[in-house]
Amino acid sequence: MSIISVLNPKGGSGKTTISTNLARSLHDRGYSVLLVDSDPQGSARDWHATRDDNPLELIALDRPNNMKTLGTMAANYDFVVIDGAAKLEDMIAACIKVSDLVLIPVQPSPYDIWAASDLVDFLKARQEVTDGKPQARFILSRVVDGTRLGQEIRTALDEYALPVCTTAIAQRQVYPQTAAEGRTVYEADNGKAKDESNLLTDEILGVLNAARREVA
Ligand code: ADP
Ligand code: MG
Repeated sequence: MSIISVLNPKGGSGKTTISTNLARSLHDRGYSVLLVDSDPQGSARDWHATRDDNPLELIALDRPNNMKTLGTMAANYDFVVIDGAAKLEDMIAACIKVSDLVLIPVQPSPYDIWAASDLVDFLKARQEVTDGKPQARFILSRVVDGTRLGQEIRTALDEYALPVCTTAIAQRQVYPQTAAEGRTVYEADNGKAKDESNLLTDEILGVLNAARREVA
């Protein structure tokens, strides 16, 4: 069982989009997956409720105290994917505590990367007292296809000394289009979106497997 949180206090960074697509991707690979909506705004809940045949299980846990109950629930699943809340510091802290891996989607703008500063500080403080748990990765999100990352983005990311996923998620209409129908890119005809989403899942599984081997 692994708990993956997708966190960034900044709204619009792609947390819900990445959470729903990742959860579906893991489900399609045969894993049992629970998607947790930790955002009182309820975007993942709305997404889920858009159709009555969503194959994913979803629960809403939008109080930090409830997050503690997740450990017991999570034992029944291969993966729990938590869609993070905006702002709410207590909630973000509670998610970090229960997670094996924290994914931080950031748009490729220095402002967005700087806005993750408190989250990174909190994560690092947690890692120091827990022997490095949870692991954390940035994901570049909503990157305009064909653009090269500017030096200022690389510098801003380097300063955090936190790994960045090799796979970036591009800005593509298919993400909001499928979301509007309660679906994911796995149910659309867009090879590029499916390919990048699959590569991201591969990478995430690689990080979790490497951590497991270290413990063993
Ligand atoms: P968050 O959960 O961090 O607030 P969302 O996933 O809700 O972010 O994304 C914010 C908005 O941007 C939504 O309208 C979403 O459909 C859109 N969006 C997110 N990721 C992408 C993407 N890769 N390409 C195009 N639009 C995206
Ligand atoms: Mg969201």
